[in-house]
Amino acid sequence: PFGDAFVRLIKMLIVPLISTTLIVGVTAMGDPKRLGSLGGLTIGMYLLTTLFAVSLGLGLGTLIRPGVGVNYNPNAVVKVETNAEDKPATGSGTQTNEETTKPVNPDVEAIRKKLGTAKEAGTLTERLLNIIPQNPIAAMAAGDVLPTIFFSLVIGIGILFTGSVADPAKHFFESAAEVVMRVTMLVMELAPIGVFFLMAWVMAVKGWGVLSNMGALAIALYLACAIQIVFVYGGLIVGGVLRLPIMQFFKGIVDAQGVAYSTASSSATLPVTISCAQHKLGIDKSVAGSVLPLGATINMDGTAIYLGLVALFAVQAKGESLDMSQYFMVAMTATLVSIGAAGIPSAGLLLAATVLGVVGVESEEALLVIAFIFPFDRLLDMMRTVTNVSGDLAVACAVAKWEDSLDEGIFRADAELPRKGE
Ligand code: ASP
Repeated sequence: PFGDAFVRLIKMLIVPLISTTLIVGVTAMGDPKRLGSLGGLTIGMYLLTTLFAVSLGLGLGTLIRPGVGVNYNPNAVVKVETNAEDKPATGSGTQTNEETTKPVNPDVEAIRKKLGTAKEAGTLTERLLNIIPQNPIAAMAAGDVLPTIFFSLVIGIGILFTGSVADPAKHFFESAAEVVMRVTMLVMELAPIGVFFLMAWVMAVKGWGVLSNMGALAIALYLACAIQIVFVYGGLIVGGVLRLPIMQFFKGIVDAQGVAYSTASSSATLPVTISCAQHKLGIDKSVAGSVLPLGATINMDGTAIYLGLVALFAVQAKGESLDMSQYFMVAMTATLVSIGAAGIPSAGLLLAATVLGVVGVESEEALLVIAFIFPFDRLLDMMRTVTNVSGDLAVACAVAKWEDSLDEGIFRADAELPRKGE
């Protein structure tokens, strides 16, 4: 129950966090005229880096094959759970005989609800149409991420075009975003305890054997993320395209990377990300304030890598492989789902059901795959969040440079100048 309480606390924040940070991200652009150029550049770059990322994840997942030999058979869970129930037989009174024949892990039940929602979405056209919520409040109440993003973007744009009359609304969302982010940070304080309980549960139920397969998944993910950060962001974007010193870029973002790794939340890292962008990389406030909040919500390259890997993991565990059209579908879906994932711990894994559906892993099975990875997800989440945040900062550098909003003096001088307090 302690691990489950931690997960509930995080999930509680998903909708408030996406809606407020995204509205604030759009309104931070200030001038509606900037929406076009800045928005176009930003979204184009975010999509491009994410496509790189998902290809990398699928490539390494195919090479390393992290799912081969994995058994996420539900019976293994049922058996041990049932034994565990035997002892306090008269104590709990909440389990019926019927329930003990199914997996009773609360994570499984929570994920089952998510999958139920995903299944209702129907065909691709219906899913695309469903991005436009007929009732935004109902969409938020159901925890539907993409409709919530759509609605928040539209409201943000509305505020931007309304001008000064909308100032109270703008300030309200700015303040609400701060509050939600603060609550997120408070919840993060519980992360070590929550992870401890989740880990203890899974080790008791499943034993050590599981770690070897998770190890292969972790190696594939860490490797793909490292390549994405060093070569795509550092080598290709900052060094190759922008012609800026790569080491200065990494020195400038190391604080944000550290916070990202320890919190596993892009949104919780956002204040540090913005601070690094402005003070260490010399990115102007207008760009940092709009590109980065948007990125913390929609640009998730580490998550995209991960979703590709999880799809392969599940397919390999079934002893199957993907054909080219499935690779393509996984790449597209992982890109879209990574956009829809909130920048909070485990958001990526909870949304993996959609990608698993594309590769023919039925919802009940998808549930088991997700529940199987879930207790180990923190370690993986930390690395993908570092990648997500690094990607936001690399794209912010690019957009700032192209929009003439980059102070190269600050960017290049960081190594020579003594570090200021802030
Ligand atoms: N925790 C990640 C982030 O905040 C999202 C994910 O779960 O992949 O960026």
